[in-house]
Amino acid sequence: MTIQDLLNTIKTNNPEADLDLVKLAYEFAQKAHKGQKRLSGEDYIQHPLHTAQILAEMRADITSIIAGLLHDVPEDTNYTIQDIEKDFGKEVASLVDGITKLGKIKYRGIERYVENLRKMFIAMATDIRTILIKLADRLHNLKTLSALPPKKQYRIALETLEIYTPCAGRLGMRHIKRELEDAAFPYVYPKEYKWVKSIASIKYKEKEKYLEKVKKILEQELRKASIKFFSVQGRAKGLYSLYRKLLSYDRDISKIYDLIALRIIVENISECYATLGIIHSKWNPFKNRFKDYIAQPKPNGYQSLHTTVFCEGREIVEFQIRTRKMHEEAEYGIAAHWHYNEKGSVVFDSKHFKWVQELAKWQEEAKDYKKYLEDLESLKIDVFRNRIFVFTPQGDVIDLPEDSTPIDFAYYIHTDIGNKCSGARVNDQIASLDTKLKSGDVVEIITDKNRKSPNPDWLKFVKTRSAASRIRSQIRVSAQS
Ligand code: MN
Repeated sequence: MTIQDLLNTIKTNNPEADLDLVKLAYEFAQKAHKGQKRLSGEDYIQHPLHTAQILAEMRADITSIIAGLLHDVPEDTNYTIQDIEKDFGKEVASLVDGITKLGKIKYRGIERYVENLRKMFIAMATDIRTILIKLADRLHNLKTLSALPPKKQYRIALETLEIYTPCAGRLGMRHIKRELEDAAFPYVYPKEYKWVKSIASIKYKEKEKYLEKVKKILEQELRKASIKFFSVQGRAKGLYSLYRKLLSYDRDISKIYDLIALRIIVENISECYATLGIIHSKWNPFKNRFKDYIAQPKPNGYQSLHTTVFCEGREIVEFQIRTRKMHEEAEYGIAAHWHYNEKGSVVFDSKHFKWVQELAKWQEEAKDYKKYLEDLESLKIDVFRNRIFVFTPQGDVIDLPEDSTPIDFAYYIHTDIGNKCSGARVNDQIASLDTKLKSGDVVEIITDKNRKSPNPDWLKFVKTRSAASRIRSQIRVSAQS
C-alpha cells in the first residue's frame, strides 16, 4: 500500500484532519527504515504504514496514526525518541515511547510472559492510545505471520487470543477484536479452524438466501411504517467466536441462532423501539431472548436491541437494532471516542475511559457473566492500585509501590543485591539511589562485592517495608560482627 491510501482513509473518516503532519511522519519513518526488509521480503515501511492504516480504519485520532507510523523507529533504527519529539512533539513521542517499552518485554515462557504483559497493559493506563497502537501493530503482524517460523507463529497467535483480544473486547472494540481472533485462530487451533470453517461455510450459504428474503420483507414493513433506516444487513459471526460458542453447545451448529444476525441501523432511539415493535408483531419472539442493551448498556458501553424470533417458515433469526452512533461505537469502541475542540483540533476523550475504571467495570460484568470470572481472577485489580511497573535489564516486569526507589528494586530482586548496592542506572543513565522510579523505567543495580553493610540513610527514603526491614536487620548483623 502507499501513503496516499492512508491519507484517503483518514480523509474519509475525518475530513478536517491535518494531513501534512501525517505525510511528514511517513517521510521520517521511510527515511529511518530505509533499506530494512521484513521477513516476508517486503520493505519495512509497509509495516508501520499498515499499522497506521488499521488505526485510521479504527477511527483513531491523528496523533495515534502518526505514532503508528513511527512506532518501530526507536527500537529498530538509528533515530531516537528525542528525534521524534523534536519533529513531532511530546505527545507523539510519549506514545511511541510507550509502544517501545511494551516491546521490551522479552518472551521467557508463556506464563511469565502473559503475566508481564498483563501488568504492562495496566501500567499503560496513562494513555490508552498506546494500547490501540499496540493492537493495530499486532493485527498487521498476525496478517503477515506466515513468513515466521512455526514456533513463533504459534506463540504470537496464542498470546493474541490470551491477552490482546480480551483487551480489545474490554475496550468495546468489536471490529478489531474479531479481526485479531480470526487471524490468530488458524495458528493456534489449526484442526478446529478447518472444521469450523467448513461447517460454517455450508451454513452461511444456506442462510444467506433465506436472510435475503427476510430482509426484503422487513424493509417493506419499515417503509410502510415510515421508519427511516440506513441499512439492513446480514452479519456473519466471526469464526473464532463461533468456535467458542460451539464448544458450549455440544459442537452442534443447529443450536446457534446468531450465526448470521440481521442488523438494522436507524436514525434515533425511538425508531429502534418502533422497529422492534414491527418485528415482534410480524414474527413471534423467542422467549427470554430479548435484550435491551439501550436501556441497559453492556459494561463496555455496547448499546443495541437484540431479539430472536420465529421468522418466515418458523426459522429462528436474531435481529440487532441500533442507531448509527451506537453502531460506530459498537464497532470501534474506545478508538472512536475523540472529538473536536473549539479550535477545531482533535481531542481524545480519554477521561471517561480510564483503564482502571474499565477494569472495575469488567468486575461488574463478571458478576453477570460467569465466563468473565476467569479473566477477572487473573487480573486481580486491587493488587495493581498505586503500583508502578519497572523492568529488569532482562525484560522482566517488577511491580513496586508508587515512589519506590532503586534500593526497593534491589531488595526486591535479592537481599544480597540490596546489601551490596552501590549505585543504579535508570534507563541507561546513572541515577541517585533515592530516585523515584516511574512505570516503564529499566532499572539496573550496580553492586560492590566488598560492601559490608547497607547505608542507614537508605531508611529515610525506601518505600517498601520489606526493604526497610532487611536494611535494619543487616545493619544489626554487621554491628555485631
Ligand atoms: Mn511493529
